Amino acid sequence: MPTLPIFFSQVVGHEMALRLLRRAVVSGDVAHAYLFTGAAGVGKHTVAHTFAAALACLYPTPEGEACGECDSCRRLMHGSHPEIHTIAPYSEQTLIWQLWDGHSVPREAKAHQVGVIGRTIHFAPQFGRRSVYILTRAETLTEAAANSLLKTIEEPPPYAVFLLLAPMPEDVIETIRSRCQWVPLYPVDNHTIGEWLITRHGVEPLLAQRCALLAQGCPGRAWSFATQPQALKLWDALADLAYAVSEARHTAPALQLAEQLRSLATVDIAEEGDPAGPPPSKGKGTTRGAMLLAMDALCAWFRDALWIACGGDSRGIVYQGDEQRLSRASSNMGVERLMRALDTILDVRRAVEGNANVQLATEVLMMRLLSS
Ligand SMILES: [Zn+2]
Repeated sequence: MPTLPIFFSQVVGHEMALRLLRRAVVSGDVAHAYLFTGAAGVGKHTVAHTFAAALACLYPTPEGEACGECDSCRRLMHGSHPEIHTIAPYSEQTLIWQLWDGHSVPREAKAHQVGVIGRTIHFAPQFGRRSVYILTRAETLTEAAANSLLKTIEEPPPYAVFLLLAPMPEDVIETIRSRCQWVPLYPVDNHTIGEWLITRHGVEPLLAQRCALLAQGCPGRAWSFATQPQALKLWDALADLAYAVSEARHTAPALQLAEQLRSLATVDIAEEGDPAGPPPSKGKGTTRGAMLLAMDALCAWFRDALWIACGGDSRGIVYQGDEQRLSRASSNMGVERLMRALDTILDVRRAVEGNANVQLATEVLMMRLLSS
């Protein structure tokens, strides 16, 4: 897996956010904490990483870009920068011992996960201009961890910058959020993603186009589709499942469909070259991230059917090539039932995101879809 890029010019899309970050680098007017928000795979970690590179670089260019040649840049490119720290949650939560030492660290925790901030924050950087802490999933901070972090963010040493990543601003505890400069990242357009897959990753044009469409604005997701054939297959299998649901009657085996959904939801996505990778799985089986991705696929399929039911042009759909089954579902289910189905999927998706039991959630989802 390639490492994350260090230049803003390597980032696909997000022009507005990059302009703001470049300006901060050039002017030196850097906030102590930033909150990057956006969907999984939209590029939060990539953007944060390039920003960290530019912040730490000893000789940034007049455009606010990392130089790529100084000691700091070279270390980062080799993936061993001791002053740019990535903190990923342990299991499904970021716990206080990950930030500071001495809070009953579990034996299986990795050494580099323990007390990163506590161990390093009081030392001025040696290789770069700043120490940067990237918290990859700030929405998982426990209250204790967030409160403890808050004290540091309120009065950090002048050289420290915190970059927090989360799906939405509301996902981060208010007291933390209010101290961060917000950098929202929005979906990137299909054409830009397709071109990027072709020119940067050498993906064959037809495949690139399909991956860009399915990715729905998230370059990281498009990259996963292009490089992991099983992710693309999964998306097709979920279309089959959605079609089965649209054909099913009240007596259909909801629990069986739920089980099918769980067995399909095994592919998680990482952002391009994300060294932290997808969140760890709790034992074998479906991860929460994989289930969210699977639900996005179901959602896209039903939205396509609704689009067709409303008389939309088939060029506007995500599931190109599946028009026949989508038309059948749109006439079988009708606009109102399709809207209810979408509501149901989004409802359950929110519950899964909010740590609901995955098995229960999928069962409720199927029962509600079949009876709606
Ligand atoms: Zn540099």
